[in-house]
Amino acid sequence: MLEVLRHLQRGAAVPTHTSVLIAGGGLVGLSAAVFLSRQGIPFVLLERREGLSRHPRARGVNPRTMELLRAVGLEPAVRAAESARALSGNTGIVVVPNLAGPVLARLEQDYHTDGTTDFSALSPTTWCLCHQDELEPLLRSRAEDGADDVGGALRFGSELVSYTQDDDGVTATVQHLASDRTEQIHAKYLIAADGAGSRIRSHLGIGSEDLGQVGHFINIQFTADLRAVLGDRRFIMAYTTKAGARCALLPVNNADRWLLHVLVDGPGTRLPADRCVELVRAAAGVPDLDVRIDGVVPWESAGRVAQAFTAGRVFLAGDAAHVMPPSGAFGSNTGVQDVHNLAWKLAFVLRGVAGPELLATYERERRPVALATVEQAVRRSNDRPRMGGQGGAEVDPEIRSDQEVTFGYRYPTAEGVPDAPFDRELTGRPGTRVPHVPLPDGSSTVDLCDGTGFTLLTAGDPAGWETAAHAVAARAHVPLSVRHVPGLPGGTLLVRPDGFVAWRTAQVPADPAGELGQVLGRILDAPVAAAR
Ligand SMILES: Cc1cc2nc3c(=O)[nH]c(=O)nc-3n(C[C@H](O)[C@H](O)[C@H](O)COP(=O)(O)OP(=O)(O)OC[C@H]3O[C@@H](n4cnc5c(N)ncnc54)[C@H](O)[C@@H]3O)c2cc1C
Repeated sequence: MLEVLRHLQRGAAVPTHTSVLIAGGGLVGLSAAVFLSRQGIPFVLLERREGLSRHPRARGVNPRTMELLRAVGLEPAVRAAESARALSGNTGIVVVPNLAGPVLARLEQDYHTDGTTDFSALSPTTWCLCHQDELEPLLRSRAEDGADDVGGALRFGSELVSYTQDDDGVTATVQHLASDRTEQIHAKYLIAADGAGSRIRSHLGIGSEDLGQVGHFINIQFTADLRAVLGDRRFIMAYTTKAGARCALLPVNNADRWLLHVLVDGPGTRLPADRCVELVRAAAGVPDLDVRIDGVVPWESAGRVAQAFTAGRVFLAGDAAHVMPPSGAFGSNTGVQDVHNLAWKLAFVLRGVAGPELLATYERERRPVALATVEQAVRRSNDRPRMGGQGGAEVDPEIRSDQEVTFGYRYPTAEGVPDAPFDRELTGRPGTRVPHVPLPDGSSTVDLCDGTGFTLLTAGDPAGWETAAHAVAARAHVPLSVRHVPGLPGGTLLVRPDGFVAWRTAQVPADPAGELGQVLGRILDAPVAAAR
């Protein structure tokens, strides 16, 4: 009965007033909806397509994103997806003449990690290869449940066609594509998760910093049983040298679902269906292969970062803010982590417990991360010819390991701006993700920071902090819990809702409540009243 009611409600009219409007129902917009509903914040998500994209597109879910999915209870479902189960043992990039031929080379990249890499020193979880067409439905379903709980809505077939903003909020004009009907929605804030061609970004007049162009590709999604020629090889990607074009084959399920990336001359290039079949057969090395073409999507591989991530009440996130080559699989992960950074800040400001400066930290924190990450993706992309034997012998010394790029990015703090983009180790330094310490119940310190409140982790006696934290939480109107973690590096750490260390101290100060209140007030841009 409840399910039927929910279904009926989901078909109901879009709320005309909400807290956050999300433009775009791709991986990043859907993630924003999931994270906002976890914060209890009403939202309306608008997606102009009638449904989700059925193209597999990105698939590398890195361990940091897996931590975020774990916090919202989605890790088991993601790992149970067909591609995730099938690809859990796949590793490495190989070069073959075609799939029927022998492996000519294995591309060695010391900086590269995958599902077989041991991340247990850094994280309670690991990589997962789950294709986007399987991940997005899981996020959508979770976002719809969340919308029911917080009074939000996801609307497909609904395009944001224009908007204005003023001191009070954002007013958007929405067109419902099936009926051509338009209506207005008023929100306090707008998240532009409208993809690489973001019209919201253009409307704001925000340009992009160009960090490198790799090329234009056509992704062919196809069904063909390649088990006989694949044998027991389990790779992440195979470059083919004899397919008649520069191609890479990517397994979706190591059996009959595949992708073929074809490098083409430019954005206008079209591949007719018979040419797609020809290329697939050549890449497979099976001239009479029975092939069904399921999708053909052009795609640009480039490195670009928007010159601003925020304009008034509008926040750019995901591909709208940055695009990068797939090498390293940082693209969609960086987008998901953008909106995770943003969701708690919006929630705290909307609840009136934080000031506007907290929202200003979104751009200050995420744009440098995007710049450094895009640079790493471009460097990895440029390193591929070397690995294929076509370039110099030396690995680019500026390439940082996947672990550093995934976990080592550091946000500016009250102590200053980071001197280097990535830290090699997580030691509890302010601005870095909380160190992972395994806990007796099998969870991790990372799991203690669940997204909604602040956490004070201490290796010492927690008694000295508990009364102070309780008093400060009540005065600041924010959740603040204290957890005793023997073996925690870095002293006592105050961790933000998004799992980043905001402050640390080696010993309990003389006035712990006063000190905590000041620190929290600074982070939240909202003075915390002193105890009377
Ligand atoms: C063909 C293709 C292949 C790719 N392959 C890889 C890969 O192999 N590896 C990798 O790492 N990355 C890959 N990517 C990139 C990866 O898919 C993106 O980084 C990721 O999808 C970004 O998510 P997003 O939500 O920011 O943007 P998108 O997924 O582009 O979603 C944006 C959404 O916004 C909607 N929208 C736009 N304007 C409006 C509007 N005005 N109103 C309402 N809705 C709107 C669009 O319909 C779209 O659904 C690929 C991308 C493409 C297109």
